[in-house]
Amino acid sequence: MTTVLISGASIAGPTAAYWLARAGVEVTMVERFSELRPGGQSVDVRGAGREVARRMGVEDAIRAAGTGEKGLQFVDTHGKVKAAFEASDFADGNGPTAELEILRGDLARIVFDAATDAGAETVFGDTITDLDDDGTAVHVTFASGATRSFDQVIIAEGMRSRTRRLVVDDTDAIRSLGMYTSYFTIPRAASDTQWASWCSFPGSRSALIRPDTHGTTRAALSFISREKGLDALDTAGQKAQLRARYGDAGWEIPRVLDGMDASTDFYLEGIGQVTLPTWGYGRVVLLGDAAYCASPVSGMGTSLSLVGAYVLASEMIAGGDALRRYESILRPYVAQAQKLPPGTPRIANPKTRLGVRVLNAAAGVAASRPVQSIASRFSSPPADAIDLPDYPSPVRPG
Ligand SMILES: Cc1cc2nc3c(=O)[nH]c(=O)nc-3n(C[C@H](O)[C@H](O)[C@H](O)COP(=O)(O)OP(=O)(O)OC[C@H]3O[C@@H](n4cnc5c(N)ncnc54)[C@H](O)[C@@H]3O)c2cc1C
Repeated sequence: MTTVLISGASIAGPTAAYWLARAGVEVTMVERFSELRPGGQSVDVRGAGREVARRMGVEDAIRAAGTGEKGLQFVDTHGKVKAAFEASDFADGNGPTAELEILRGDLARIVFDAATDAGAETVFGDTITDLDDDGTAVHVTFASGATRSFDQVIIAEGMRSRTRRLVVDDTDAIRSLGMYTSYFTIPRAASDTQWASWCSFPGSRSALIRPDTHGTTRAALSFISREKGLDALDTAGQKAQLRARYGDAGWEIPRVLDGMDASTDFYLEGIGQVTLPTWGYGRVVLLGDAAYCASPVSGMGTSLSLVGAYVLASEMIAGGDALRRYESILRPYVAQAQKLPPGTPRIANPKTRLGVRVLNAAAGVAASRPVQSIASRFSSPPADAIDLPDYPSPVRPG
């Protein structure tokens, strides 16, 4: 194996690119957008994900770019704090705010730069339109009209990957969790602090605003809905949906909606999980959310993509039946991450005013010290539950 094409340059793609390029593999990434996508809120790097970052030599860069979020607080529509979970109260940063919290776009930049420094190349603004695996190579056609051949192709295009359909019937691969979430950046207000603030509204809606390191504030609006296809609307249509759904909500929502209208990094997704019977198809393999998305509510998406990329690259370099070993090492880890607490995500988005009051009261009890110290032992995601393989000694071709 000397040439690999990776489609998707977010977290999983560049991490695999780094580990493959380090062994002397010629790696090309292709990204649909015309540049590295900057958007998203803060994401957690936990457990084995942190270990992969350490082995890549980027743990300090991630820490330095951390959002400095103090913890998560539940507030009512008058801004009154009903419960507070401070990050430092949880062992090893395993609370709702992890020890390593970084904006998704900043993390993407860090792993992308590491991959580029290791020798990976990137083509922006193009996509794969056809794949022909003849058993000795994969012949790839791009939307730009270019054609190239590679020893192996990795699809790391996220949950709604389109290229995936060229290798597997994925009609039933995505299990919707019945919720939509939108992420965007808004101007920072004097009332914004280093705390992440969560506010629930009747009608199964919630809002989360979080600090960032760019002098702005990150907002996320989530709502439970059975309606299909809102994520397929254009950006203007999606923003109009949110205005209609949140127009009557109180708290900071008026300025959040104004900020949303002006935002340029707006991103809305239908929340779901991906399950597929297999991730390897001849010389083509699925990675990250495209293969096994656990959803943002799992708190494990980023760690799964870092760990999966490391395991896949290590096994590909080791050779032999690499894709089978990639699956057998990673599947138990993914299965645990995909196991969500009962009632998720409805429980955090109550339908009625009374339900919202009960949620805030329950959060208040959970945040009280004695309960918190017991709960933290059981509530943290299973981020360490994998034995990472050793990275094989670099083999440089030729
Ligand atoms: C803009 C953005 C914002 C996000 N914000 C959050 C957040 O706030 N919180 C959270 O928990 N998770 C967020 N996520 C999801 C999170 O990044 C993933 O759950 C996790 O890190 C797994 O990453 P991944 O690399 O497998 O997939 P993703 O992060 O989904 O990245 C997929 C990449 O592939 C590219 N792509 C898609 N289709 C094609 C194609 N046909 N050809 C070429 N490239 C393609 C996309 O543009 C993207 O860069 C966000 C993702 C994106 C893209």
